[in-house]
Amino acid sequence: MTYALVLNSGSSSIKFQVLDPTADANDEPLVSGLVEQIGEPQGSITIKIRGEKYSVQEPIADHSVGLERSFQIMTEHGVGPHDVDISAVGHRVVHGGKVFSEPELINDQVVEMIRDIIPLAPLHNPANVDGIVVAREILPDIPHVAVFDTGFFADMPPAAALYAINAKVAGENGVRRYGFHGTSHEFISQQVPALLGKDPKSVNQIVLHLGNGASCSAVQGGHAIDTSMGMTPLAGLVMGTRCGDIDPGIIFHLYRTAGLSIDEIDTLLNRQSGIKGMSGVNDFRELRQMIEDGDTDAWSAYNIYIHQLRRYIGSYMIALGRVDAITFTAGVGENAKFVREDAMADLEMYGIKIDPERNDLPNDGPREISTDDSAVKVFVVPTNEELAIAQKATALAKK
Ligand code: ADP
Repeated sequence: MTYALVLNSGSSSIKFQVLDPTADANDEPLVSGLVEQIGEPQGSITIKIRGEKYSVQEPIADHSVGLERSFQIMTEHGVGPHDVDISAVGHRVVHGGKVFSEPELINDQVVEMIRDIIPLAPLHNPANVDGIVVAREILPDIPHVAVFDTGFFADMPPAAALYAINAKVAGENGVRRYGFHGTSHEFISQQVPALLGKDPKSVNQIVLHLGNGASCSAVQGGHAIDTSMGMTPLAGLVMGTRCGDIDPGIIFHLYRTAGLSIDEIDTLLNRQSGIKGMSGVNDFRELRQMIEDGDTDAWSAYNIYIHQLRRYIGSYMIALGRVDAITFTAGVGENAKFVREDAMADLEMYGIKIDPERNDLPNDGPREISTDDSAVKVFVVPTNEELAIAQKATALAKK
């Protein structure tokens, strides 16, 4: 059996999986690992191998140490990168800028090009580059492939991709809507035509990726025509800790009147806002419990979340003109039936009807949750970004 290694490097963490690229979305990977608190006094590595968990707590100086040490632990259990046949290493890269729309076989020049995009994604791309450099050093004989979170949205129509700000300033500074979570939106939207029994070219659909980060997209004939995240992943829907769309004037107000620095505002909007900033928790299970216990902040946060989600669904229905399917995915979308129910409530007039019993079924593979006579089909389809990256990396490495 051949496997793919998929790496997702953050500034102080590395997530990775060794998985069979031909597996189903719900299959357990052979190995999944998480290296955390890189560069801090105490780091941690947790690795799940064939369902069994192994953890170590020790200082991890940098990404290189984190990866070497993880591979060592995997080797001790017979699943190191030289024990199993790894045909490709897929790297999740957050920002592909205007340069990359497709996955790219990595060479030195590609690494430099990803480095050049750092100003557009200062929080994400530096760590992605670190991960690529380190992994290529450790595994020089395996093809490495970069898969971009923005790729699926690279050919959005200008009306959706451009902002109504000064064209010269926007052009000179790469200011446009890039969109993120593209690997998931593409992975999900490619499965929907088969569920509908329709030719992918004829399908108009809305994909709702609702996880800790959340985004939605309008997809026409397999091409994204709009998406909710913007130049950065801060825009669009209300998220776990991010605010989503707000009046940009709020930033000036907080800077001038409240005396917050730009960095403080950045942290406020990215990490201390969204559901957590309004209710104190960002997990929908806890939020639900708080609502049941009568917590008014939790109730208010939930309503703002649902209101914003419905706003986007409505606008994408108009943008698409005709909608064949709406699909929920990611942690909240796959598991929080109350979110699906409330997001789709009272839309019979638009041909959307949820079947409460179908919506109640546990998360177990792709399924329909609309009624048989619902003109717009509503689905839940589990996402698996690692699997999607593994498939893309393996396909490109084979060429
Ligand atoms: P990430 O953006 O980190 O990849 P996920 O897609 O894994 O996020 O989604 C994580 C979120 O999914 C959690 O914060 C939680 O709000 C939600 N979630 C997970 N399981 C459940 C569940 N059983 N019921 C309700 N919400 C859930």
